Parts: sequence; structure tokens; C-alpha cells
Amino acid sequence: MAPKIRPLIAGNWKMNGLKSAGLREARNLAKSMGKVGKAGCEVLLCPPATLLAPMREALKGSRIAIGGQDCHGKAGGAHTGDLSAPMLKDIGCAYVIVGHSERRADHGESSREIRAKAEAVHRAGLRAIICIGETAAERKRGQTLAVVGKQLAASLPKGCTAKNTVVAYEPVWAIGTGLTPTADDVAEVHGAIRARLRRRFRDEGAAMRLLYGGSVKGSNAAELMAVANVNGALVGGASLTAADFWPIVATCI
Ligand code: PEP
Repeated sequence: MAPKIRPLIAGNWKMNGLKSAGLREARNLAKSMGKVGKAGCEVLLCPPATLLAPMREALKGSRIAIGGQDCHGKAGGAHTGDLSAPMLKDIGCAYVIVGHSERRADHGESSREIRAKAEAVHRAGLRAIICIGETAAERKRGQTLAVVGKQLAASLPKGCTAKNTVVAYEPVWAIGTGLTPTADDVAEVHGAIRARLRRRFRDEGAAMRLLYGGSVKGSNAAELMAVANVNGALVGGASLTAADFWPIVATCI
């Protein structure tokens, strides 16, 4: 029998958010969360690094976790401008996103580097959200499952467990475009990812959370969250305001 998996709804603010307005949105989200009883899902905000510390303070006493958007593969050293996983842990993060397609594209990050980052996240005792997904051209060529399978094999390190790892399937062509795959397409890809995770990580792979990401909004969240093997969402644009993010969270609360 498939294990019951508690969904995760994660907001990725990317390079958006200034202190006053950003913290107001985080507090508003916490207010909405505070009005419901026991939450049926976990909620996470990944603001820019500049807002991690004040957001942790603003969300104290709430059930919203905070996470980083990236980290270095090493714990410290001469790496100007980078942040390490232990630093993110030190500031109160529970999760770190690694391998987002914008990092892969803008910074040329390979699956091998992403695996090193995920290992660093695990070593720090944090949870890695490892992103994979095909481009529009790859989908057109019918390579979606092959691309995603290859990224999955190369980006996930040994030692992934249901506790320390979340996989986010984010078709690159769906990110920030308003386009989404059909529910059947999502089911096909998530089913294939689940099968691979089971083969490699056995029971841990069966229980690992699989998020869908790419233009999730209040209007499509319920349909996407109902797809088999979808255990939550990674949300970009629609996580920036409580008014947009709350209806997505509410689909699984
Ligand atoms: C993302 O950046 O991970 C993402 C899914 O963005 P959006 O929701 O804006 O498509």
C-alpha cells in the first residue's frame, strides 16, 4: 500500500521581496494559517537571503517554516557571495532548494554540482528540495521522461530519505509562463519519478514527497494537487502575496 504522505506547499520568492512589504505578506499568511486547526500540510517560504533572518522573527510561533533558495556544496571557505548549508541552518532554515532551473540556466549548474549541494544540505541536517524538469524543446522532442530520469539519477545523492529529500518536478516551460501541463501529463511524469525513486531508495523512495511546480495558482492548485503522486507544490509568482498563496495552501490544509 502507498504510504500516506503529508504534502508540502513551498513558496519560492526568487529575487523578490523587500523588508516591509515582504514581511507584511509573511505575517498575513501566518494569520490565515493561525485561523485553521491542525494543518494537513507543511508550509514553507523561501525568501531571498536578505529576508531570512527578519522573516524567521516575523513568523515565530507560526507553523510556517523558512528555507534557502540555494547553497554552496562546501561548508565554508573562499567563495565570495555564496552561502553554505550550515549558515542557512544557523539562521533557522529547515529546507534548501537546490537545482532550480533558473540556477541551472543562469549559473550553468550541472546535476553533478546539484548533487554536491544536496549532500551539503543533508550534512547540515537540513532537507533538500531538488528540482528537475524538461525544457519546451525537450518535451516537443518526446524526451521528457528521459531528461527527467537522467536529472533525477545524477542530482540525487546516496542517502536520500523521505525525511531529508523532496523532489520538485518543474517543467521549465511552465515556470512563470502561465502554462501548465495537463493533469494526465503531470501524472505520467510523477508516476515515472516515483517508480525510479522506489527502485533506487526502496521504502524511502515510496514515501518521498514529489512536488509539482510551474504556474501553480489558486485557480489550478486543487486539480494539480489531486493528481496521483503529487504531494504538494513549489510556487513562484503566486507565493509572493498572502492573497495569492493562501488559496493554494488552503487546497491541502
Ligand atoms: C518556481 O520558480 O519554482 C516556479 C514554479 O515559478 P512560478 O510558480 O512562478 O511558475
